[in-house]
Amino acid sequence: MKALEGIEPKKVFGFFEEITQIPHGSYNLEGIRKYLTDFAEKRNLEYIADDAGNVIIKKPATNGYENEPGVILQGHMDMVAVCEEGSGIDMKTHPLDIFIDGDLIGAKKTSLGGDDGIAVAMALAILDSKDIPHPALEVVITANEETGMEGASGLDISNISFRRLINIDSEDEGIFTVGCAGGARVYCSLETYDTPYALNKTYELKIKGLIGGHSGQMINKGRMNACKAMGRILAKACDPEGYSTLNSILGGSADNVIPSECTANVTIPLFYATEFEKKVIKEAELLKKEFSETDPDFEFTIHETDADEEDNDISISLQKVANLIDAFPNGVIKMSEDVEGLVQTSLNLGIVKCDNGAVTCEFSVRSSIAEEKEQLIDRLTDITEENNGTYSISGDYPGWKYAVESPLRDKMVKVFRDMYAKEPKVEAIHAGLECGFFIDKAPDMDAVSFGPDMQDIHSPSERLSISSTARTYEYLLKVLATKD
Ligand SMILES: [Zn+2]
Repeated sequence: MKALEGIEPKKVFGFFEEITQIPHGSYNLEGIRKYLTDFAEKRNLEYIADDAGNVIIKKPATNGYENEPGVILQGHMDMVAVCEEGSGIDMKTHPLDIFIDGDLIGAKKTSLGGDDGIAVAMALAILDSKDIPHPALEVVITANEETGMEGASGLDISNISFRRLINIDSEDEGIFTVGCAGGARVYCSLETYDTPYALNKTYELKIKGLIGGHSGQMINKGRMNACKAMGRILAKACDPEGYSTLNSILGGSADNVIPSECTANVTIPLFYATEFEKKVIKEAELLKKEFSETDPDFEFTIHETDADEEDNDISISLQKVANLIDAFPNGVIKMSEDVEGLVQTSLNLGIVKCDNGAVTCEFSVRSSIAEEKEQLIDRLTDITEENNGTYSISGDYPGWKYAVESPLRDKMVKVFRDMYAKEPKVEAIHAGLECGFFIDKAPDMDAVSFGPDMQDIHSPSERLSISSTARTYEYLLKVLATKD
């Protein structure tokens, strides 16, 4: 017996369960792609499997809807495939072991892929139906969204004829997303060799206990960034003559996560060591006070270590690195004037590490305004060049500016009001969405993103709400059935 047997809406959960039995983490999409093209072939539906890995399935309008504007239903086929540490599960081959807990669906010891399998399941249920009224449909299931939206980036827009896009990749029922940030990753590196001062002391400095968080959603919380904080301490404390050297530094885990820890190993000339210790502790105490509200568990330690030059990752002027890190802007640059509370432009120094004799700082830059994103990237690269460093930029994705006129949004709000007897929240987010690529390729695209309630996506505690899925699907069918 299937785990989701009998759960309404039956077709949606039937397809969803089938999808969970096909391993489909990013870059492991052959199985799911074949499942989708087989689905289309069996039902004689026109489809395109494109070079970017996307699958587009088309279905004509049902009786009486031939003159309505066609609609694109969109989700992504890949999931973040993660399992509990030590579970020994091979996510490349493991069909998910799904279970029901009250109103929630989860998968034992692994992520569930409700993000975004439920979008695929809803779209397939509609494509499969004979009795659901709808305008002509283009179902666009993109590849590798979770690893940088490569499918949406590579999508050939000439394969798409319609201009109303319903993206089903949001995780809060009752919230419509109608704008998002564009972004890019920027890598700034400094590479020089400096000989350590002969008579010296070596120290290890460590910052930990910070809250951190996602750099899109949490950047406006004013939390401490461990890498920036380390840069500030070292810039304030290192000897002004420039005799100190940095032996290693490591902070952060991803460009889009606010780093909660940073460790640095430094060599200080003996004549300056006492002064250095004093200044370090003074600056750390200032930080502790400044961030006592946002990061109450901030912890800073400094202790002397045995110098072992063999173990050093690098040997580089501490003054140069610290001044560089300290000079970079970080956090919120500008709030939106149109949408209250929305961050318009920000950046996050996500990682500082040593690589091949260089120190590299990795940033995630975001803005809903393309020009502001470019200006901010220029600021980072200018600062890097002024300090004789080098830079590179990757993972550029376009933003989606709130559209003043949007017939699709108006219709979706009205249908929501009628069904739920309340107003939906209509908002823009300070994070990327695939809609940005569609709008970048077809500026007349009218788009809204929505979806059912999910918890803890991208983790083994991911859960999908059954009742919210049922309502969201019912709502989607109402939107499709409502004529202009
Ligand atoms: Zn998603």
